[in-house]
Amino acid sequence: MTAIESPLHFVRLIVPSDHSDIVSDYLIGDLIEGVEIRDGGKSKIEVCFYLPRTETENTLEKLDQYYSEFFPGETQLEREIAEYDQRDWQKEYLKSARAVVVSENILVRPSWVPRTEVSGFSGDIVIIIDPGMAFGTGAHATTQLAMVVVYNSIRSGERVADIGCGSLILSILAAMRGASFVKAVDIDQLAVEISAENARTNSVNDKITIERGSTDLLLDDEPYDILVGNLLREIILVELDNMIKVTRPGGRLLLTGLLETDEEALEEALRARGVSEWSIVHQDEWILFDIVLPA
Ligand code: SAH
Repeated sequence: MTAIESPLHFVRLIVPSDHSDIVSDYLIGDLIEGVEIRDGGKSKIEVCFYLPRTETENTLEKLDQYYSEFFPGETQLEREIAEYDQRDWQKEYLKSARAVVVSENILVRPSWVPRTEVSGFSGDIVIIIDPGMAFGTGAHATTQLAMVVVYNSIRSGERVADIGCGSLILSILAAMRGASFVKAVDIDQLAVEISAENARTNSVNDKITIERGSTDLLLDDEPYDILVGNLLREIILVELDNMIKVTRPGGRLLLTGLLETDEEALEEALRARGVSEWSIVHQDEWILFDIVLPA
C-alpha cells in the first residue's frame, strides 16, 4: 500500500527574534495567508506556515532572496519541511491569530477574537482587521509607531492622506479619531479591495475614499492637514516632493517604514526641500519622522 501524500507542506523557519517581524510580514504581505509564531528559545522565534507542496520551493527561494537583501551577510534561514494536514493547521491558525494591544488606547483584533477575550484593555479605539493578504495587522513596529503618533496628532475635522494604506489600518484610526475626510491610496489592487472591506467592517466608509495609485492622485485635492506614509525609504524619497505639495503649509508628514540607518538620507532630503522641523520616534530598529512643514 502506498501512503497518500498530503497536498500541503508544513514549513518551520527558525528566525533570530529581531528578524521575525520582517520575515513574517514579508510572508504574509507577499506570499502566504498566515503564519504562526512560536517561541524558539535562545532569542530565536519559529515562524510556521503551510503551503501547497507545489509552491514550497519557489516560495522559499523568494524568501531567501528577500532575506539576504534585507539583511546582507546573513546566512539562509534554518528550516524544516514536513507533510501537513490542512484541518489541523486551520484549527491552530485560528487559535494563534491574536489581537494586538498597540497602546493603552488602541486594540487591533481579528473579527473572530471578541474584545471581551482581551484582558486588561480599556482603551477607546478597537479596530477589526482579519489577517490576510494586505500589510497592516498592527503587529509590525512601523504600523505601531504610526498608530501612536496618528492617535495623538489628529484634531477633529482634519483632512488626512494615507499613502500605501495596505489594510487601511491607519486611515481607519484617523477616521475614528475625528478626521473629517481621509484619502487612502495604494498601488496594490488587492490592498485597495481589502481596504474597502475593512472600511465597511469598521463603519468608517463614509469618511474614507480609497483609490489605486500613489501621491499623484492627491495633487488636485484640497490640501491635507496630515499625511501618513509607512513605506520603504526608496519609495518615500521618490514620493517626497508630491507629499509636500499635497500637504498644507504648517501641516504634518508622518513618515515611517524607515530604519535607523535611513535617518541621514531622509534628513538630507528634507533640508534640500527647505524643511527644517521634525522629531524622530524610535521602536526597535525602526524610526518615524514627525515632520512639520514650513508655515
Ligand atoms: N499603511 C499600512 C501598510 C503599510 S505597507 C501600515 O502602516 O501597516 C506599505 C504599502 O504601501 C503596501 O500595501 C504597498 O502596496 C504600498 N505601496 C508601495 N509603494 C507605494 C507607492 N509608491 N505608492 C502608494 N502605495 C505604495
